[in-house]
Amino acid sequence: MEKWKKIIAGSLNNSDELAEKFGLDAGTLDKINKIFPCRIPGSWLKHFTSKNDPLFRQCVPDPAELMDSKELIDDPLGEVRFKKNEVIVQKYPDRCLFLVSGECAMYCRFCTRKRKFKEPFVITQKDIDNGLQYIMEHKELRDVLISGGDPLLLDDDRLEYILQKIKSADHIKIVRIGTRVPGVLPERITAKLVKMLKKYHPLYMNIHFNHPAEFLPDTCRALKRLADAGIVLGSQTVLLKGINDDPETMRSLMWKLLENRVRPYYIFQCDLVYGTAHFRTPLSKAQEISSALRGWSSGMANAQLVIDLPGGGGKVPVTVNYLKERDGNKLCYRNYCGEEYIYTDISEDDMEKK
Ligand SMILES: *Cc1c(COP(=O)(O)O)cnc(C)c1O
Ligand code: SF4
Repeated sequence: MEKWKKIIAGSLNNSDELAEKFGLDAGTLDKINKIFPCRIPGSWLKHFTSKNDPLFRQCVPDPAELMDSKELIDDPLGEVRFKKNEVIVQKYPDRCLFLVSGECAMYCRFCTRKRKFKEPFVITQKDIDNGLQYIMEHKELRDVLISGGDPLLLDDDRLEYILQKIKSADHIKIVRIGTRVPGVLPERITAKLVKMLKKYHPLYMNIHFNHPAEFLPDTCRALKRLADAGIVLGSQTVLLKGINDDPETMRSLMWKLLENRVRPYYIFQCDLVYGTAHFRTPLSKAQEISSALRGWSSGMANAQLVIDLPGGGGKVPVTVNYLKERDGNKLCYRNYCGEEYIYTDISEDDMEKK
C-alpha cells in the first residue's frame, strides 16, 4: 500500500477515540458523524495546541454543528438546480464543475458540500464516463474544474484516465484541480503523481488553505514540487470566525501563499450550509479584511473576497467603496489610507468631439 493510503487508513475518525482524546461526548459525536463524517489527518493532530487552535477547529467535530438555523440549508449553492448529471454542475457559460471523487483527506467542518457525505458519497466509473461524455458534447466549455470530494484522493491511474480524456477534447483549453491535499496530506504529492500531472498542461491547481499554521514543512515541500512542475497554483480560503477573521491572520496567510508560489485567488464568505452558524462572520468583516489588504500589502496578496450566492447565483465580489462623492466629471476617491484624491473623468460626448 502506498504511504499516503496508510496515513489515511490511520487517520482519526472513530467517536470513542475522539471522545477520549478531546473530552467530547461520544453520543453527540455519533450524532454528528451521521450528518457529516470526521477525518483528522495525523500531520495536524500532532500540532494541536488547544481547543481554540485554528487547525483543531477546522476538523474536530463540534456539538454546535447540531444546532438548527433556518437560513442554513443542505445545498446553499443551488448545485442541485444546475446539476447536469450525477457529477457535472454547470452554472456558467464556459466552464463546469466535474465531481470525480467522493472522499477527502480531511473533512472540513464547514464544507459546502456536506449534503453529499450524508450517505457514503460514491462516484462510479459509469458516473465518470457520463461526466466525460457531457464535457465532450458541450463545445461551449473551455475550462473544467475537477473537484469532489478531493480529486487527489483518486489513484494516479484513475485521475490520469480523466485528465487524458478531457485533454483529448479540442474545445477544452484548461483544466483546474480543486484540492486541499497539499495542506492536509502532503505525502500524496509524490514524484510519480507530479510527473503524471505535468503531462496535462496547462494545468491549474486551486488549493484550499485557511490559516498560516497550515504551512508545515512537508506542505511547503509539496507546493515546491507542484510549482517546479509548472502547475499554476492558486488558493481558495473560507472566512471562518475565530480562525482567520482578522486582518493580521489573513495578511500573514496571503504572504505564506505567495512565499510558497501560490497566487491568492478567492476568499469566500462562509456558505450558508447547515451546522456552520458558529463559523459565520458578518459581511462587514470581509470588507474590513479587504480594506486591510488593499494598498497595505502587495497587490498580489489581494485575493478577491466573494460570496457564492445562495440558490446558484454564482460568485459576486464583496466590494469596498473607495468613491466618496462625484460632482459632474470630478470624482473624489479615498485611497487605502483615507486620503482624498480627485480623478477627472471624460464623458462620452467629449470623446466624440476629440
Ligand atoms: C466556483 C464555480 C466555478 C468557477 O468559478 P470561477 O469564478 O471561474 O473560479 C464554476 N462552476 C461552478 C458551479 C462553481 O461553483
Ligand atoms: S476538502 Fe473541500 S470538499 Fe473536502 S471536506 Fe474540505 S471543503 Fe469539503
